[in-house]
Amino acid sequence: MTDAVRLETLYKTYDDTGAAVTALDGVTASFAAGSFTAVMGPSGSGKSTLLQCAAGLDRPTAGRVFLDGVELHPGKDTAMTKFRRTRVGFVFQDYNLLPALTVEQNVLLPARLAGRRADRARCRAVLDRLGLTERSADLPERLSGGQRQRVAIARALVTEPAVIFADEPTGALDLRSAREVLTLLRATVREHGRTVVMVTHDPVAAAYADSVLFLADGRLAGALSAPTAEAVAARLTHLGDLVGTRAGALA
Ligand code: ADP
Repeated sequence: MTDAVRLETLYKTYDDTGAAVTALDGVTASFAAGSFTAVMGPSGSGKSTLLQCAAGLDRPTAGRVFLDGVELHPGKDTAMTKFRRTRVGFVFQDYNLLPALTVEQNVLLPARLAGRRADRARCRAVLDRLGLTERSADLPERLSGGQRQRVAIARALVTEPAVIFADEPTGALDLRSAREVLTLLRATVREHGRTVVMVTHDPVAAAYADSVLFLADGRLAGALSAPTAEAVAARLTHLGDLVGTRAGALA
């Protein structure tokens, strides 16, 4: 079976201030089709960078990214941009909805940008599944945070992508809405066979995933399958201690 996402020895160095920062230090990882993975690690460990590079929103300094077996070449290449727009869904902490567009128009946007004819029927089916049918003509400002994030998930789902990347999708939500969003993400994997890779700092959120991948200092630092919030929290504390030890040793 082809992995939905494969990362091969990814490196990412930021060099904009003159002092180079290595955000990814040789990461190799695979995400099986139909799996739900949480990516965790201390602040600054490279989680967002990993997601941005895997989604083709940023370019790794070295290494390769494969989506559905096709190598991604981020950049101005329009065919590749189109490929990315239909094969990758992205859900952000702050929703990233366009305020002047209705719920339905926001959901249809990726398909329109990819030059596809808007598939209204599929859009309605997704909105219905996410309980948003009655909101489809509303502007985002009329929705709660949880509803906005559901719109963002609908937008990520509508092109039936190979993978949905979510960066702290519950970071701005109250507990109840967060639970709703996580349950939805899990259902898209379990019931609809999608692949989700989610960055989170919350062990409770990570426990909704099938497995957790840990990062520390831009490197893989272990994995946990069938995670519980307690096991994740314990592992994170241990990682924090390790990172602290290393920083301490350098000081
Ligand atoms: P995390 O998501 O785990 O908090 P990030 O991927 O955001 O980690 O960042 C990893 C490292 O790269 C950090 O040291 C951060 O300061 C640095 N970094 C991230 N983005 C940039 C950028 N655009 N320019 C310079 N440094 C960056």
